[in-house]
Amino acid sequence: MMKNKYKKVIGLEIHVELNTASKVFCRCSSAFGAQPNSQVCPTCLGLTGALPVLNEKAVNLALKAALALNCKIDPCSKFDRKSYFYPDLPKGYQITQHYKPIAKDGYIEIETEGEKKKIGIAQLHIEEDAARQIHKDDHTLIDFNRAGVGLIEIVTKPQLETAEEAKAFVLKIKKILQYLNISDCKMEEGSLRCDANISLKAENSHSLGTKTELKNLNSLKSLQKAIDYEAKRQEELLLSKMSVTQQTLKWDESRNKCVVMRTKKSAAGYRYFPEPNIPPLFINEEFIKQVKATISNLPDDEKDRFIKLGLSSKDALVISEIREVSNFFKETIKYCDDIQLVANWIKGELFRHLSDKERISEQLTPKDFASLLNYVKRGDITAQSAKKVLKQMLAQKKSPKVLIEELDLAQLSNHKTLNKLVEEVLNQNHNSVKDYYNGKDKALEYLVGQAMKLSKGKANPKTARLLILEKLQ
Ligand SMILES: [Zn+2]
Repeated sequence: MMKNKYKKVIGLEIHVELNTASKVFCRCSSAFGAQPNSQVCPTCLGLTGALPVLNEKAVNLALKAALALNCKIDPCSKFDRKSYFYPDLPKGYQITQHYKPIAKDGYIEIETEGEKKKIGIAQLHIEEDAARQIHKDDHTLIDFNRAGVGLIEIVTKPQLETAEEAKAFVLKIKKILQYLNISDCKMEEGSLRCDANISLKAENSHSLGTKTELKNLNSLKSLQKAIDYEAKRQEELLLSKMSVTQQTLKWDESRNKCVVMRTKKSAAGYRYFPEPNIPPLFINEEFIKQVKATISNLPDDEKDRFIKLGLSSKDALVISEIREVSNFFKETIKYCDDIQLVANWIKGELFRHLSDKERISEQLTPKDFASLLNYVKRGDITAQSAKKVLKQMLAQKKSPKVLIEELDLAQLSNHKTLNKLVEEVLNQNHNSVKDYYNGKDKALEYLVGQAMKLSKGKANPKTARLLILEKLQ
């Protein structure tokens, strides 16, 4: 195999839509999914004379994000106009903080294959979203509902080295912003979008190679595939003594490859200049203190708390991954004290059936879930039966008590009934009984299995086993 001569140098630009009721410079609703072009006004349509007014809640959320990502806050940030001519931008420019962002120099810690690494954040700034373009056959439709929705852009330092690290970074950002209610971060609805910059560096060199920018990375899978594809393409160019061109590439999901979108503009190409209609944004220590006080319960803190309760670090990570799941777990253990049992059932059986983990509490109440697990814990129903009940609880929204009765799943631990059942099994399986006497231990397991089958899964397996052994003595 050829030795890797080059190292990947990856930087990410993550755009996240802020959880504000209205857009960032006007009062239009920023809700997702409304009738196209129903949430618009002269400001977000870019009509002449309309003036932008900065949404205070958006500033609040951006500041909260910056603090949670360990950034330094600029006491005076400013807004610029980034000029480009494109149908999704009716004003002909986007209002963004380019030269004086609200925050700089942050970091978060990521973990891949058990190894921790600090990734620097170069800057975090506020900007407005562009309209959504819908390409259909040979024409393009535009929905201005998204135009002017408040965003933060998080730009990393070029410190990521693999596609896995890039994925871990996005996941961590997503988790933090969801926990703090800053954004719902739904990649499939476009409220979290990600571009990647990538270049290759010769192993012993300190200088960076020419980078390309990857766009249209609509899922974590696309992000990983596009990075690996582009790194390989650049490596092949460099190995055959050709050079990489600085350009913007688009990931084509259906063809599994990157295609050229445009040759990259430099910052000068965007003719940035100060936005004259929005005054500088002053942030004082008092405001920072106030916002800081609202930051609590970050996902890492939650994970540590679960470890202290007795979960393994792997289980704690899975349970704390999504805020809603974490809350569900905390509620459930109020009613069922077997913490490990609760964790096992959440990450196993419950995750298998949930269509959307973020909506866990709409599908099941922690109290009902705990009550089901208490039936298992007491041995009133078998784990096998509990799985059936859980499935029906999710489908029919009935309590476990009602379902256990309806499905007739209460465990058979009544001695008399079980005795009869075991006798029947022994009578029907003479060969296995003979095998057992001849020292074949497996025959016992088979007989227990038959008893379970005959009881339709309702027999208590431990009691059935004991009874069979008793009779075979
Ligand atoms: Zn508007």
